[in-house]
Amino acid sequence: MRDIIIVGNWKMNKNNAETKAFFEAVDSVAKTNKGLYGVGVPFTDLKTALEAADNLVVAAENVHFEDSGAFTGEVSVPMLEELGVKYCIIGHSERRAMFGDTDETVNKKAKKLLAAGMTPILCVGETEEEYDNGKTKDVLVEQLNGSLKDIPAADYENIVIAYEPIWAIGTGKSASVEIAEDCCKLVRDVVKDMVGEEAAEKVRIQYGGSVKPGNIVEYMAQPDIDGALIGGASLKPESFIEIIEKTK
Ligand code: PGA
Repeated sequence: MRDIIIVGNWKMNKNNAETKAFFEAVDSVAKTNKGLYGVGVPFTDLKTALEAADNLVVAAENVHFEDSGAFTGEVSVPMLEELGVKYCIIGHSERRAMFGDTDETVNKKAKKLLAAGMTPILCVGETEEEYDNGKTKDVLVEQLNGSLKDIPAADYENIVIAYEPIWAIGTGKSASVEIAEDCCKLVRDVVKDMVGEEAAEKVRIQYGGSVKPGNIVEYMAQPDIDGALIGGASLKPESFIEIIEKTK
């Protein structure tokens, strides 16, 4: 049985004061022995979030794959490690579309995080056009083979894969429970083909895309969905608390 892992993704939202207020409202609710709840926060909020967190886990939303050097504006794994960050979202579709992240760079980031004992939350997912043209499987196979290339089977218990159909992100148009389960199962099958059944059974897979208090329970009831990556509905303490209360 895999533990659940439900993580908010604040994207470029909230300053330090807002971060503190969120944690004051939400952290104590997140106490459970069923798994983990957490939030991905902007780099500038990490320290505040970590100081305020007793139960919620805190994730960075990106990282560079080099330790240091001439990479203006970037942040490295050792820098996150120094703060005590243990989780990091990588390869979000917004980063792939707007900031040049590719399967190759996501793969380097994943390896670097794993080597530091951190857990990557690695995002994959197809566009609406790819979905309409029946290309979802091809896209997932390509993204997973590229992003998880040469990562040994033993590491998969420390990896979270977030399946996020791009057409469902921030659109309010969530994937049906059937589609979400089918695609999360597909992700697990691809992992099985890549590194074997044991790793595929251990890897935690999240669904992401317009998850909210009103649909979280159905998603979490699916056998291959171990959690969710939640954008909009993770910003307001009330809605994130509702999500926690309904699943913990
Ligand atoms: P959403 O975002 O929940 O607002 O659709 C999900 C995400 O981008 O991870």
